[in-house]
Formats: sequence, structure tokens, C-alpha cells
Amino acid sequence: MGEEQIVIVGAGPAGCSAAVQCARLGVRPLLLDSSGKAGGLVANAFLVENYPGLEKPLTGEVFAGRLAEHLARFDVTITAQTVSRVEPDSHGWIVRTDGQHVRARCVILATGTVPRPLSIPKERDLVSTVLFYEVRDLLAKIPSPKKIIVVGGGEASFDYSLSLANAGASISLLVRSDRVRARGRLGEMVMNHPEISVELNTRLVTLKKTDGGVAATVISANCESHRPADALLAAVGRKSTAPLIISSPDPSSLTHAPGLFICGDARSDGLGQVGIAVGDGLATAAMAVKLAIREKVN
Ligand SMILES: Cc1cc2nc3c(=O)[nH]c(=O)nc-3n(C[C@H](O)[C@H](O)[C@H](O)COP(=O)(O)OP(=O)(O)OC[C@H]3O[C@@H](n4cnc5c(N)ncnc54)[C@H](O)[C@@H]3O)c2cc1C
Repeated sequence: MGEEQIVIVGAGPAGCSAAVQCARLGVRPLLLDSSGKAGGLVANAFLVENYPGLEKPLTGEVFAGRLAEHLARFDVTITAQTVSRVEPDSHGWIVRTDGQHVRARCVILATGTVPRPLSIPKERDLVSTVLFYEVRDLLAKIPSPKKIIVVGGGEASFDYSLSLANAGASISLLVRSDRVRARGRLGEMVMNHPEISVELNTRLVTLKKTDGGVAATVISANCESHRPADALLAAVGRKSTAPLIISSPDPSSLTHAPGLFICGDARSDGLGQVGIAVGDGLATAAMAVKLAIREKVN
């Protein structure tokens, strides 16, 4: 890889909108994503129905396809690369991938979030076989699940439960506190679903792999019980990827440096909406293009 005016890392809603906007403003970006595909986290969504202008609710997968089509219309391709580091250099930034690097005047980091762990013993050993953090990873491994335990009381765990029930599974949705955070239509759809049972005040203590899947030990009303299931899906929050990629003891100081921009969920850390990520991508691209063009003229 060589030198670029603008490198965008991440092809979720934020990175795709930034890429389209850069191309539209006359600077074709290099767009990198570890998955090699457009969509990011929203590809997991049961139904996207809050994005303005949609003629009807779309599944996350279909929405991701729309983002891919939009990139194609602007002739932007996605290079499948995982970025390990972004570092400052004398003319801008160095974007490091596995064994390679590219220099860029501007870098837009749209890498979203990583899941927070459950913090149970031997968690890492179970990941991707019987423990998952995204529903599409679970369904890729177990396409016809019969019984799944979902952990978490927010919108993601509710959304995942609907997708899994739709795939034919019966769901135990374990919520640690005495109330759920998902509201409105999503909450109603889950609470009224015959195949989803929401269990409040229920805490996962351990998870073990078994011949048929997993056995979860849970505590509810001071009683311990063991639950068998095909697998467990954890949705107990997510955190920004930016500090993992920006090479600095104090990443926030670098984001004030010219030419490095963070946008979407990686920046908003918790707002977690497609519309916000898309708007952020557009605004960020406008700033990056302005800087890249000004530097080129001077
Ligand atoms: C189950 C679920 C349902 C949802 N439903 C809705 C909904 O209905 N409506 C709504 O508004 N929002 C919804 N959201 C939220 C929405 O998905 C996010 O807010 C949005 O995807 C954030 O976009 P983003 O581009 O900032 O980040 P992401 O979508 O997370 O995209 C980040 C991209 O960066 C890539 N990446 C990460 N690290 C690297 C790296 N080191 N190198 C290269 N590439 C990297 C990833 O592969 C990914 O493609 C939902 C979220 C979930 C989990």
C-alpha cells in the first residue's frame, strides 16, 4: 500500500456515508474493513425501522446490502484489511495493517465498538463455539438453533432475541436487574413473543461447554439452577474501538491533531443509532476533504 489522501477505516453506516461523501466531493478514499463487507453492526438488526426515508422496515442484512449498493454507485470498493494501529508521522498519519502500512493525509476512524465481556471464568475459551456476541456469528455457526440463552437487558439483547426466535429457537432472556431497558415497540414484541421468556433478577454465574452445547449456571431469587442450551449470546454493552487502534497513551489528545477524525459509534460511545453514525460520517468527510484539498493546493 502507498499514499492516500483519505483512508477510512470501517465500512459500517458511518464509514460508508463518509466514503460516499468523500467521493461525491471529489476525493476517492481508501476504505478498509476487516470483514471486507459493508454494513457493520447494523447487519445484525432484526428490523431497521427508524432510519428516515425507508419505504418500509428493512432487515439489517438488507440495509447492509443497500449500503454496499450505495458505495458501488460511487465506485468505492472495500479493501479487506484489519487496521492494527494509526500513528502520526511528519506528513500526516500511518495506518498499519497486518504486515503492511499506508500513509494518509487524513484518517477517518469509523470502527464502531467491541462487545463488553460477560466476565465469567474461561470466557475466551468459549467464544465463537458456544458463546457469541453478535447474532449473525451465532447463526453462521448454528443455522437452526433450538434453544438459546441471551444475556442482557438493553435493546440489543431484545433485538437479538427476536432474530433468534425468528430462526426457530426458543429463548431464555436473562436480565440481571429488576427491569429492562428496551422500551416501546421492541419491548412489546419481545414481551408478547410466545418463544421468548424474559427472566428478571437473574444472573449468569458460569458457562460450560457440553456435548450438546452449553450448560449455564444462573442464580435467581437466591436459587442456583443449571440451564442447557445450544449456545449463549451475550449483549451486555459495547465500548469504542478507538483507544485500541490509536497509538497514544492519551488517544483523546491525538483526536485534536489535524487529519485524524473519529466518527459514528466509535466516537459517540453508546448513542448507537444508524442515523447518528451516518450524519457523523457525512460531517466528518466534509472536514476531511476540506483539509486534504487545502493541503494539496498549498
Ligand atoms: C442488534 C442491533 C440492532 C440494531 N438496530 C438498530 C436499528 O434498528 N436502528 C438504528 O438506528 N440502529 C440500530 N443499531 C445500532 C447500529 O447498528 C449502530 O449504531 C451502527 O451500526 C454504528 O455504525 P458505525 O459505522 O459507527 O459502526 P459499526 O456499524 O460498528 O461499523 C464498524 C465497522 O468497522 C469495522 N472495523 C472494526 N475494527 C476494525 C479494524 N481494526 N480494522 C478494519 N475494520 C474494522 C467493522 O468490521 C465494522 O464493519 C442496532 C445495533 C444492534 C447491535
